[in-house]
Amino acid sequence: ITAQALIQESVDRITELDPKLNSFITFDTDYVKSQVTDFQENQLLSGIPVALKDNIVTRDLATTCGSKMLENFTDPLYDATVAERLRTAGSINMGKLNMDEFAMGSSNESSHFGPVHNPYNLDYVPGGSSGGSAAAVAAGLVKAALGSDTGGSVRQPAAFTNTVGLKPTYGRISRFGVVAFASSLDQIGIFSKTVEDNAVVLEAIAGRDEMDTTSSVQEVPKFSELLETSMAGKKIAVPEEYMSDAINPEIRERVLEAIEVYRGMGAIVETVRMPHLDYVVPAYYIIAPCEASSNLARFDGIRYGYRADNTTDLDNIYEKSRAEGFGSEVKKRILVGTYCLSAGHYDAFYMQAAKLRTVIKQDFDVIFKEYDVILGPTTPDAPFKIGEHSKDAVKVYLNDLLTIPANLVGLPAISVPAGFTKEGLPVGLQLTGKAFDEVGIYQFAYAFE
Ligand code: GLN
Repeated sequence: ITAQALIQESVDRITELDPKLNSFITFDTDYVKSQVTDFQENQLLSGIPVALKDNIVTRDLATTCGSKMLENFTDPLYDATVAERLRTAGSINMGKLNMDEFAMGSSNESSHFGPVHNPYNLDYVPGGSSGGSAAAVAAGLVKAALGSDTGGSVRQPAAFTNTVGLKPTYGRISRFGVVAFASSLDQIGIFSKTVEDNAVVLEAIAGRDEMDTTSSVQEVPKFSELLETSMAGKKIAVPEEYMSDAINPEIRERVLEAIEVYRGMGAIVETVRMPHLDYVVPAYYIIAPCEASSNLARFDGIRYGYRADNTTDLDNIYEKSRAEGFGSEVKKRILVGTYCLSAGHYDAFYMQAAKLRTVIKQDFDVIFKEYDVILGPTTPDAPFKIGEHSKDAVKVYLNDLLTIPANLVGLPAISVPAGFTKEGLPVGLQLTGKAFDEVGIYQFAYAFE
């Protein structure tokens, strides 16, 4: 099959299916064609159709972050490092994908460009915040997509759409050109249908980048050539808190079945404790808004994006532009973050939450002294209907319970398809590994797949 044919198939599928899914914010066939005429041949991803979450900047396409604030933002004169590396590897960028506004959300419902529909049932959310990336891969519009994962935004939508979603170790992939949400938690992640495809994309984009000082100098293994290994004698930890009554029983059942699959391959599966799990959601929902309130200060109506009309003076430009440009979830986070960072509250909120990261890291260290990988559900609950939780923010925040830990401590984690509920909605299995052991979690995922 030629690259031209693959790209044409992708164009056709997007044209036919995306009006129902709404996974793309920007899809421009001229832009696609311009790449097909001079892409790199004989590279890792030559002629492979991919697409990017719309918080990854691109030279010739708008980058909206799912926000009115950046609706017409075509400014950056450069590509994010990940976009550039994907191009160098020969892939074709089919466009920019829908997302919760500034990556804040778990359902893609906070996007200025409307919700994304789950390909498995259009009445349901595809998860978020990288909902467009998940839906586009699940529906076969592109072979792989990039998302970003600050508290689960790659793994949770992967679980909701029966796709493979990796959040690598903090620092594995450059964040240069990725619009920051919470810089100490943000990491680019990869969606694909298979573990092997995922590994190939990681190979293409991982590694040190001089433009991001937090990117790691660790060498990048040939992940896709290291997938196969015996599970015999491998040690898997299942925290009892990951399988509590708070988890939907149907999801627990799928995970128990997965455990039996690993046992059948000779792995040793044991129950462990993750004693501080109850604190991860509160800690995250302080740290992430604090960092966001600082990162989003740049959207002032002067340097970036939307500027309100009929303003009276400079303060009024800031106030009106931010009041009109940001949606309600983003405003809520900025208010919470500003409050928690203000003098008099800083010690009580931000410092306490920061300390919790150390405590949670110690929980992981204890487990990884003895075990190769931590296994559990990706999410406590199955996909929900669009609009179902619109009045219950806390219920949606709690959906991040099992994905947040890896972000707080920077560890790699992957969600792999683990079957369906009785209603036919996808369930995800999550594997968390030691720092920079993407090879390890890919091997566990590959053996299960
Ligand atoms: N659902 C989480 C939030 O709303 C995670 C988002 C993310 O990972 N970008 O903050």
